[in-house]
Amino acid sequence: FAPEFQVGDGIGMDLKLSNQVFNALKQHAYSEERRSARLHEKKEHSTAEKAVDPKTRLLLYKMVNAGMLETITGCISTGKESVVFHAYGGKSATEDKVIPPECAIKVFKTTLNEFKNRDKYIKDDYRFKDRFSKLNPRKIIRMWAEKEMHNLTRMQNAGIPCPQVVILKKHVLVMSFIGQDQVPAPKLKDVTLSSEDMKKAYYQILNMMQQLYKECNLVHADLSEYNMLWHDGKVWLIDVSQSVEPTHPHGLEFLFRDCRNVSQFFQKGGVAEALNERELFNAVSGLNITAENEVDFQAEIEALEKMNEDHVQNHGKKLSMFSSDGDPPIYDE
Ligand code: ADP
Ligand code: MN
Repeated sequence: FAPEFQVGDGIGMDLKLSNQVFNALKQHAYSEERRSARLHEKKEHSTAEKAVDPKTRLLLYKMVNAGMLETITGCISTGKESVVFHAYGGKSATEDKVIPPECAIKVFKTTLNEFKNRDKYIKDDYRFKDRFSKLNPRKIIRMWAEKEMHNLTRMQNAGIPCPQVVILKKHVLVMSFIGQDQVPAPKLKDVTLSSEDMKKAYYQILNMMQQLYKECNLVHADLSEYNMLWHDGKVWLIDVSQSVEPTHPHGLEFLFRDCRNVSQFFQKGGVAEALNERELFNAVSGLNITAENEVDFQAEIEALEKMNEDHVQNHGKKLSMFSSDGDPPIYDE
């Protein structure tokens, strides 16, 4: 290896590399050398490499070696909590599972800082309750990845446009790539839509939010123009590791925040039909909160959450009040 090439075994770690993995690393080292020679630019060299730790890198190489992924082409996004790569899909080990031609690999970051400010989401999620207290940070990060996988699967089953899960390995989630030829679909915030498409997108999101709530029993909890992609003439939902069930102690607050983001985006975007945040909240949840202003509305939401929590305390289970009697109204163009 060239002296500056990071193979991950230079810091006293006893990594045993199989021949296959070693060869893949060597091959990669050569192509990296060629690439950096081409670029004449030391700084650009291997930013993607540095974004993941040696153990993660090994996990990725193993996927390539197993033939599941053809090549990992590069980094699409580096965020606070995750790094996302693009890859070309390879061959599947089993016949019934087809690997998409292009994949997105989401690597959840394993630093302590981020999990601290996220733990309010997962701590109160009863699905993870028994497991939370005993876990170390590394395992908690894996739970984020697992949660994203479960939530995506629920959405897929409901027919909501979203990435399809390919495989989960520890804190690395492989899913189908939304986009084409290595170019990710633009976020809603970055794309300029005709007023007709804007209106279409709005009604689609309204329907998806209702489906998410009713059929998937989920609140996205980070829904905004940053986590919606425009692809194939429709909106795709991504980034659902933080999504929670509506009866989560803060579930309705999260839903209200989602509604505010969506309402504001489409009202600013000139969709005259767009419901305001309170109307949208009622349309999605099927609840009928009548407060006329934001402060009172929020107070009612918190009162409902508290009522649910008290009920959980007293009876050991959640109230079924969030599932309303009637179906929420269907809004359509
Ligand atoms: P976070 O915002 O927590 O870093 P996201 O899941 O939102 O993580 O992913 C970050 C970015 O990576 C997205 O904004 C999007 O541009 C891109 N991305 C994520 N998943 C996919 C995917 N399946 N297909 C295409 N692009 C994706
Ligand atoms: Mn995101």
